Amino acid sequence: MVKNMLPDTAILIVAAGVGERLGGGIPKQYRPLGRIPVIRRTIQAMLAAKAGPLWVVIHPDHRALYEQAGGDLPVAGVIEGGATRQESVRNGLRALAGNPPRHILIHDAARPFISAALVARLLGELAQGAAGIIPALPVTETLKRVERNQVNTTIPRETTVAAQTPQAFDYALLSAAHTAYAGQGLSDDAALMENAGHTVRWIAGERENIKLTTAEDWAMAEKIAAGGEVRTGFGYDVHRLIPSSGGMIRLGGVDIPHTHRLEGHSDADVLLHALVDAMLGALGEGDIGQHFPPSEARWKGVDSAVFVAEACRLMAIKQAQLLHADLTIICEAPKIGPHREAMRARVAHLLGAEENRINIKATTTEGLGFAGRREGIAAQAVVTLRAYYS
Ligand code: MG
Repeated sequence: MVKNMLPDTAILIVAAGVGERLGGGIPKQYRPLGRIPVIRRTIQAMLAAKAGPLWVVIHPDHRALYEQAGGDLPVAGVIEGGATRQESVRNGLRALAGNPPRHILIHDAARPFISAALVARLLGELAQGAAGIIPALPVTETLKRVERNQVNTTIPRETTVAAQTPQAFDYALLSAAHTAYAGQGLSDDAALMENAGHTVRWIAGERENIKLTTAEDWAMAEKIAAGGEVRTGFGYDVHRLIPSSGGMIRLGGVDIPHTHRLEGHSDADVLLHALVDAMLGALGEGDIGQHFPPSEARWKGVDSAVFVAEACRLMAIKQAQLLHADLTIICEAPKIGPHREAMRARVAHLLGAEENRINIKATTTEGLGFAGRREGIAAQAVVTLRAYYS
């Protein structure tokens, strides 16, 4: 093992801006877009691209905002930015100087729809030795040079592109350029490399990789965020009933007095187990037995709410939002009706969802089969969610 081995590529997400003109009384990068803060979307998208360790440059006054929006995300570190974007990037580059990466990707927090495919293309160019490479879009509109409300000349669009981020560079060259051209208030990092005389090339950016600047951008972003994929998962579970005077069974996180108890390694909450399996199914994350093996002592007698919390954590990683959960209990007894609303409230609470997204049903099997003979209780769950990154 080489000590202090240089990471090949590091990522800086620049999030130190204070602009609040998109509303909500908070800087735009912390504003929720479809319930998820913009900065959280951006970090998760970058993490999903698996390009390397990721640092976030934030405004010194935004610690609490950052903690709330993304404090739980597996970033390598948080760095305090400066008064301008250029200064913030420079602070970020300096913070990595002790263990410098070979390449650096610099990305604006206000571009939450960065795709793993675009990051991969940038990394491919770096691997071939490019000093600097940026994504950009050819300009399709005719460009005019204007003065107040008067159009003066037409700029040939064949020689014009609109630059995006992430911008990818040789770390040492970009750091030197930031030192040489400090304090110039340049609006992107490619400009510093251009000033330093390095060749910067461009590849095709992506239309969806918009920078949230205006109210119009925000409206478009809400449309993009409402996209994603809708997925459905199904769960089924059975637990055995054992006679137990003064017994108690737990269904949907609610304790119900009964003549029997449910047998199981955990608290045997058959309904929550079916729910967790449906959530894992929709996420493509296997089943409850893989995540919480009954062979492990630590799950003995555990409140199944713990399993739901872990499934919620996996959902958060994939930026998945629960759209609906439809849960069915199959038993002759106890009567579910009197407990239905309590279960609905409890499940909604565990999922952090509105109660109108949760449905609890119950049925008997007309005395047929194991449920009909009161040997056990079965539960089914169907979960529908919207996911952005898989
Ligand atoms: Mg079970």
